[in-house]
Amino acid sequence: MPELPEVEATRDNLERWSAGRRVVRVERRDPALEESLERLVGARFVGWSRRGKALAAKTDRADGAVLHVHLGMTGRWVRDPEPERAHQRLVIELAGPGPRCLAYLDVRRLGTARLVGDEVEAFEGLGIDARDARPSAEVLARVLGEGAGAASATLKARLLDQKRLAGLGNIAVSECCFFAGVHPHERVRALGMKAWARLAAGIAEHLERTLATTIGRDEIAYVSEGGDNPFVVYAREGEPCPRCGAPIVRAVAGGRVSFFCVRCQPEVSG
Ligand SMILES: [Zn+2]
Repeated sequence: MPELPEVEATRDNLERWSAGRRVVRVERRDPALEESLERLVGARFVGWSRRGKALAAKTDRADGAVLHVHLGMTGRWVRDPEPERAHQRLVIELAGPGPRCLAYLDVRRLGTARLVGDEVEAFEGLGIDARDARPSAEVLARVLGEGAGAASATLKARLLDQKRLAGLGNIAVSECCFFAGVHPHERVRALGMKAWARLAAGIAEHLERTLATTIGRDEIAYVSEGGDNPFVVYAREGEPCPRCGAPIVRAVAGGRVSFFCVRCQPEVSG
């Protein structure tokens, strides 16, 4: 499932492939996608932006319409796929030099591509971006540690709440909490400013590490699809903790799985 680094790498690809280029044809192969996408024909892509896991492409349309994209669980954008390649939901053909077309593939069809009024609408309801906003300890303490429900909220639930901090998913929560030495099920009210500072650094470390191996690839692999596990604790149940050697533990809370080291990440609030 794509998280912030995969979505940012997708943004970077789409920007390089399409910025400044005019749409000559839109082929909606999935009837569930809105017909309004055909209004893109004739428009030029100006540039792609991202907040959390949402993408928005500005165009030169007079009405200011923006293409809003969310990859859902299995969505991906590729350039010039083989015609017989499965799960192509949308194909956008471009004029001029560069890839002839951009294709949106989505096996589980939980992602979306639609035209919206402007970028504000595309990013509606999302909190600050976990990478671009470079949240400090003070910002995290406020955004994740306060508000209704803060007395009982766990750090993991708050980190996954896209309305507060946008872009982190299950993988990021396990990795960031490990780097920070904080238990993912810790109550936010138990965290002091030192812990928030370690978390701010942990979030940045995870995102930059992951982005470094993702950005610039034409086709982005998602961890759930197999292959090497590039993560420090995620999906490493029973393997030794890279810091202390204790076995990494897997636990499920709220239907979401986390991986952590009980020695390096002691839970203080129980
Ligand atoms: Zn450990």
